[in-house]
Amino acid sequence: MSQAVHPFSSLLGPLRYACQRDFAQLATVKQLRPVLEAALTAGERARVDARLLSALRAELVPVDSARTEERKASLVRLLGLLRDSGVALPAGLPVPSAAPAAGAVPPPRNAPPPKAPAVKPEEPPAAARGRVRRKPSDGDHRSEARLLSIAPREGPLSRPLKELPGRMNPRLLAALEKKGVKRVGDVLFLLPRTYEDRRHLKKIRELVPGEKGVTVAVVKSAGDALARGRRRMFRAVLADETGSFAVTYFQAGPWLKGRFPLGKRLIVSGELRATPGGREMAHPEVEPLDDDEVSSLHFGRVVPIYPGFERHEQRSYRQLAARVVEGCAHLLKEPLPDALRAKHGLLPLQEAIRRIHFPTSADVMEDLEQHATDAHQRLAFDELFFLQLGMQLRRVGVKTEPGIAFNVSAPRLAKAREVLPFQLTRAQARVVSQIASDMGRPEPMHRLLQGDVGSGKTAVALASAMVALQDGYQVALMAPTEILADQHLKTALRILGPHGIQVGLITASGTAKEKRERRAAVASGETRLAIGTHALIQGDTEFEALGLAIIDEQHRFGVIQRHALMSKGLRPDVLVMTATPIPRTLAMTLYGDLEVSVIDELPPGRTPIQTRVFSDKQRARVYEQVAAELRAGHQAYVVYPLVEESEKIDLADATKGVEQVSRAFPDFRVGLLHGRMSNTEKDEIMGEFRAGRVHVLVCTTVVEVGVDVPNASVMVIEHAERFGLSQLHQLRGRVGRGAAKSYCLLVSAQSRSEEALERLAVMERSSDGFVIAEKDLEIRGPGEFLGTRQSGMPELAVANLARDVALLDLAQAEAKQVVGADPRLEWPVHRGLRKALEDRWEGRLALARVG
Ligand code: ADP
Ligand code: MG
Repeated sequence: MSQAVHPFSSLLGPLRYACQRDFAQLATVKQLRPVLEAALTAGERARVDARLLSALRAELVPVDSARTEERKASLVRLLGLLRDSGVALPAGLPVPSAAPAAGAVPPPRNAPPPKAPAVKPEEPPAAARGRVRRKPSDGDHRSEARLLSIAPREGPLSRPLKELPGRMNPRLLAALEKKGVKRVGDVLFLLPRTYEDRRHLKKIRELVPGEKGVTVAVVKSAGDALARGRRRMFRAVLADETGSFAVTYFQAGPWLKGRFPLGKRLIVSGELRATPGGREMAHPEVEPLDDDEVSSLHFGRVVPIYPGFERHEQRSYRQLAARVVEGCAHLLKEPLPDALRAKHGLLPLQEAIRRIHFPTSADVMEDLEQHATDAHQRLAFDELFFLQLGMQLRRVGVKTEPGIAFNVSAPRLAKAREVLPFQLTRAQARVVSQIASDMGRPEPMHRLLQGDVGSGKTAVALASAMVALQDGYQVALMAPTEILADQHLKTALRILGPHGIQVGLITASGTAKEKRERRAAVASGETRLAIGTHALIQGDTEFEALGLAIIDEQHRFGVIQRHALMSKGLRPDVLVMTATPIPRTLAMTLYGDLEVSVIDELPPGRTPIQTRVFSDKQRARVYEQVAAELRAGHQAYVVYPLVEESEKIDLADATKGVEQVSRAFPDFRVGLLHGRMSNTEKDEIMGEFRAGRVHVLVCTTVVEVGVDVPNASVMVIEHAERFGLSQLHQLRGRVGRGAAKSYCLLVSAQSRSEEALERLAVMERSSDGFVIAEKDLEIRGPGEFLGTRQSGMPELAVANLARDVALLDLAQAEAKQVVGADPRLEWPVHRGLRKALEDRWEGRLALARVG
């Protein structure tokens, strides 16, 4: 190689700027992707390895994501790829842990398909891990170490790892420290991500092309090679007494050579291919095999592969894990009462931990890979049970506090229903009486109301509000966005205004004086129904007599936040409403402390929405259909996935979209609505759209929540593959609100993956929010499903909410029984439970209240 400048060196400037000082400037870096693309195109001309190029390209997709974590991860992976391809990186950049000096062999990196930011296919959330079949060859370094959060906080297992008797590799220790594996017990609870079956080591001759196999072989030759197209690559030949094969890596670097010293015995795992040039394994996983090693730990058995470690680190970590499991697992205290374990045939904790790390011959490989062995199930039960136990205790705690017993006599209820301009549906009527019955009891209501978009939750909320209002109490109605708060305000003024109810708006906007006055009106009791955003529950809003708090669309609130609201010195009844149908399992873990009501019926007069998926290229057809609707006097939405309000993103897409749409429909008026407009601007454009003066509304996802324009009969969703299904379903609910037949046209990028197609097809088939939500949960896992890391969703390391439905039911039933019988967990047999519970909820449970 000449000393010519590396073709990718032009990438480094922008990358360094974005990454340096721990991403300090990242927020100011916009439009990184086009810049990097351009540098890659330059690389293309310099005939860089095509696979490397496409791997780099794939990493560019999330680089301008609105989610900072996603951006960072993508940047780090880019740096890793560059480093692996031999680019010298400046110091101080966050390069992934495989330091070339350590002689790492990077895991295979077949170019993944371009990723849609919302889907994140490369690493399923922990809880979905058991579901998604993962081969051990999936890049270890990508998965983060995730500890099962039940490691004991005191006793011998909480001792620092470095105090473990015997020699500790200081490098490993430092690496572990970084991953949060600090205490002896942490090692027990860092569970294998997957397993590799090394019971049947094959001779080279026995390896079957196209199948994965593990073999032991000796390095015969190794070195850089020039493949076709002058691509530089690394190639080594390995052999045993039965034959030989080549291993290839498209990266090149001295460190690779360091991994293949001549004459060294290696354990090699990968898929053999028959190529014209001979038998070859591309990017196999390799562990060195020391001749003097007692091989029982690493061979002749199923070995654990741990998350968060590079392949070459697995070995030394595995050794440590074995030491800790052998030496310390017996110190684990069994938290579950014997009777409970016996009843459900659950393994003792110690045994489960041992077998999860080092499976026995009784464990089936497939179960191991799916995290479905008895040992896994025991730990999954553990996780779910303690979660439910915490929820049940909270529920009991709430119930034992004094609350308001509202007057729910028949005339009061009749009056509450009468204010609505329509007859309640059967489902609405059922839910209203459930709520009324809660409200009539002297303990605080704590209820979740689930209902699909447009199912009439707001109507139920207003009827419930009337119950409290008639009794002389104030009501707070909290919405997630100002647009929605505003819409609720209009509805409330229309429906309750004529009955003499004073309605006020409390949001973050308006002049200081206005805000002060509005707050004062709430504090004095002049305002009876206060509608607003989360400003409503912030410190400086006081009520004269708050009786009922209704939280709309707040599935983003976790249990902890909800209880923070309730402990503001008020004991109002609380009704949480969500329009995202939440799969039952998720609801149980998120809202296990709430009673649940469901509206499972739409108000009459709705026509079903017809949904179709189109590719980019078919946009002309999409526009044709929109034009037809517009000519019929209807209105249209065109939605771009420009992420939520308040997040700083550039609006290139939506603003470009406006131009495109305006050109397509020259005879109609097109307006733009996005999260970064001022409220006045938003109001204005929404007003125009409502009044029918704007015919096509180009918007970001601000319409997701609650915009109600019955004359809109068609919605186009661009880049549909980037949305979660539940979100698409929510968006789609914005049409089909009038009598006209409505359409939802999903436009997806040309290069959509099969997975994306499969997901979108669900939208064509189903209009049932719950079906869609289940599917969504299955595909994306709870973290992504809820759309945010701050969802209040407890992290589950073993349990899988899409799969472990029965186990969750069991856990809930048992938890209910325990709390029902011994609500303060005082019985001697429950001592272990109580201890474990305190550990796991880390005091957030306010156990003082129950004990
Ligand atoms: P959600 O809050 O669940 O999205 P809304 O309460 O906003 O649903 O209701 C959606 C639309 O249906 C509104 O226009 C509302 O006036 C109307 N609606 C609600 N309940 C009924 C009913 N029982 N009969 C007729 N129309 C209804
Ligand atoms: Mg609503």
